[in-house]
Amino acid sequence: MSTISANFGIEKTLNLLGVKHINEGTSTGLNNFSSGDVLESYSPVDGKLIGKVATTTKEDYEKVMDAATKAFKTWRLMPAPQRGEIVRQFGDKLREKKEALGKLVSYEMGKSYQEGLGEVQEMIDICDFAVGLSRQLHGLTMHSERPGHRMYEQYHPLGVVGIISAFNFPVAVWAWNTALAWVCGDVTVWKPSEKAPLCGIACQNIAAEVFKTNNLPEGISCLINGDSKVGEFMTKDTQIPLISATGSTRMGKMVAQAVAGRLGKSLLELGGNNAIIITPDADIKMTVIGAVFGAVGTCGQRCTSTRRLIIHESIYDKVKTAVTDAYKQLRIGNPLDEKNHVGPLIDTDAVKMYENALIKVVEEGGNIIVEGGVLRGAGYESGCYVKPAIAEAKPEFKIVQHETFAPVLYLLKYSGDVENAIEIQNNVAQGLSSAIMTNNLREAERFLSVSGSDCGIANVNIGTSGAEIGGAFGGEKETGGGRESGSDAWKVYMRRQTNTINYTTELPLAQGIKFDL
Ligand code: NAD
Repeated sequence: MSTISANFGIEKTLNLLGVKHINEGTSTGLNNFSSGDVLESYSPVDGKLIGKVATTTKEDYEKVMDAATKAFKTWRLMPAPQRGEIVRQFGDKLREKKEALGKLVSYEMGKSYQEGLGEVQEMIDICDFAVGLSRQLHGLTMHSERPGHRMYEQYHPLGVVGIISAFNFPVAVWAWNTALAWVCGDVTVWKPSEKAPLCGIACQNIAAEVFKTNNLPEGISCLINGDSKVGEFMTKDTQIPLISATGSTRMGKMVAQAVAGRLGKSLLELGGNNAIIITPDADIKMTVIGAVFGAVGTCGQRCTSTRRLIIHESIYDKVKTAVTDAYKQLRIGNPLDEKNHVGPLIDTDAVKMYENALIKVVEEGGNIIVEGGVLRGAGYESGCYVKPAIAEAKPEFKIVQHETFAPVLYLLKYSGDVENAIEIQNNVAQGLSSAIMTNNLREAERFLSVSGSDCGIANVNIGTSGAEIGGAFGGEKETGGGRESGSDAWKVYMRRQTNTINYTTELPLAQGIKFDL
């Protein structure tokens, strides 16, 4: 099997990233606190054991928190542009390790090597963004109603930010959070997905190297490992003012309740059920590329993956034929082989959910037009490779309303004008990414208007999948309402303080209140 550019094997990849093959604890000082049960990481690519990681016990966790809270006291005093310089160095380290980290992402998570590299590129991009931001963490000034007074707002760091991440973006989501949190003066404690713990260790090693070189405490970036129980150490901990959690809506509801119960803040990035509306004025060639990449890229395991095509009845058959023809050309196999378009699902539980969705859609009256199925035999030993499937369905089917994290695409028909399509698109519980394919300006503007798409992301003539780091990223409704990455998303990592300074010898009260003594 031919593999692309990173012409080194997985052993060398792990070495380059300082990840020990059998990893009891990890190579950095902080993570040697990990002494709990051993977590095994198997690759969905070939089913092989890649490494073992010790999970974090409650006692270990307390030590990590101790290191993080101490580090915060140093880090918050460093001027923000100097913190930006550290993030710049971190971005440079990522450039050096891009191939190795991209390869580990691909092998541990199962996405293509190109997508693995793309994920590391997102980390680099957010570092660049954060470096500039470190000189722009500005507040406002406003006029005081009292003479001789000055009033303004400033932003201070929050403290320890807890990050809980999903398996499907095992490194980028952490960087989206940390790069901003660090320039804002926060320190971070990260619990990566228990399905991709080695990616977490690799990232922690890179960060630790940068902090060590600069004589800064390693506690600025902390790592804890384990499943939801370890995540709960953080969600219940009053020492953590902000929890940024990425994952399923089910997880988000639990995290939101635990954090709100102690009046902490949460930033939630949860499931999507993303649709492309295809109107009679759509460019069909562009539509097919956007729809197929959106549905099968990362084997349908992106939060922004395309799950529904809402197609006008006048072009329904044409689009259906074009998309099903494109599916015939898909090659499924080892994601490290650049010839393949579709890699594996993360594990056999995900395969079961995929199979279940195909059963459910038929039970509800749907019609499968591109058959699914699990691939077996040489090259598919992990049992995680499935065929991307397409079903004709109705918008109200329960399974269509649900996010199945797999390559299952539903074709839905609409008639009349674009309002009807928008209503179908909005009529789901999730609100992450949405798109319209049209060359009709009126339809495009309707889709983007106040009564148009209700999602956090609304695109015209682009698919639903993927996003640039420059914009605020996130979704509405059951997607959780959080925004991270670009634009002014940094504000969530800081606390706002309003300051009023009196430079007179009088003490006038606000609202003209008199209090004479
Ligand atoms: P998951 O919900 O199973 O797990 C995500 C993380 O949450 C893991 O680290 C897990 O250990 C932790 N966790 C689970 N329950 C917890 C609890 N009660 N307390 C604390 N931590 C807990 O999700 P997954 O299968 O890893 O990822 C897939 C899901 O993530 C999909 O729904 C996808 O749409 C979503 N996702 C959303 C975005 C986004 O930006 N909106 C990005 C990536 C993934």
